[in-house]
Amino acid sequence: MPKSKITKSLKIHTLIAEFGSDVFCTDGTVLFCNICSVKVNHEKKYYIQQHIKSEKHIKGLQIKKNKTQMIAPFVEKNVFYADITKMMIACGIPLYKLKSVEFKSFFEKYVQESLPDESTLRKNYVKDCYESVLQKIRLEIGESPIFVSIDETTDKAGRSVTNVIVGPLRESGRGYLLTVEVLDKDSNVKKCWYL
Ligand SMILES: [Zn+2]
Repeated sequence: MPKSKITKSLKIHTLIAEFGSDVFCTDGTVLFCNICSVKVNHEKKYYIQQHIKSEKHIKGLQIKKNKTQMIAPFVEKNVFYADITKMMIACGIPLYKLKSVEFKSFFEKYVQESLPDESTLRKNYVKDCYESVLQKIRLEIGESPIFVSIDETTDKAGRSVTNVIVGPLRESGRGYLLTVEVLDKDSNVKKCWYL
């Protein structure tokens, strides 16, 4: 690529970094506004500043923002709810125990906290715990080659289950239980797990 083209592309990318890659994009030669679907003159920063102040652009941004809010309503997280979810999962306490009168009254008496419903935790907090554990596993494994162990066994209820364990392929590496799948005895369905 000629030097002038590289310089131009670099200049546009610098402007995108400044004004937001969710708003602008480029093919390396022109600056394009994703909100208004138009090319924007990038010769001077002033033109971009003018563009983002334009009525069309501001309206477009508002519509985009409203759409995003409709898709994913913001849930303000309660620290106590987040911590109790983490504690119960880590200690192997089933979340349905939150329905137990004794469990609830213990917390209300000694911790002065009202316990949330099981459904609230399942809907808004369990996924965060799952993501945080997956993130820890990813960090531990890093760029290392991995081992995957798939071990079929029978659980307490007599169901046929498969434990999927993954870990870094090095001497000090430990294995992490990635998932437990209950297998249907009557079918020969092969399952896949995506890491
Ligand atoms: Zn625009």
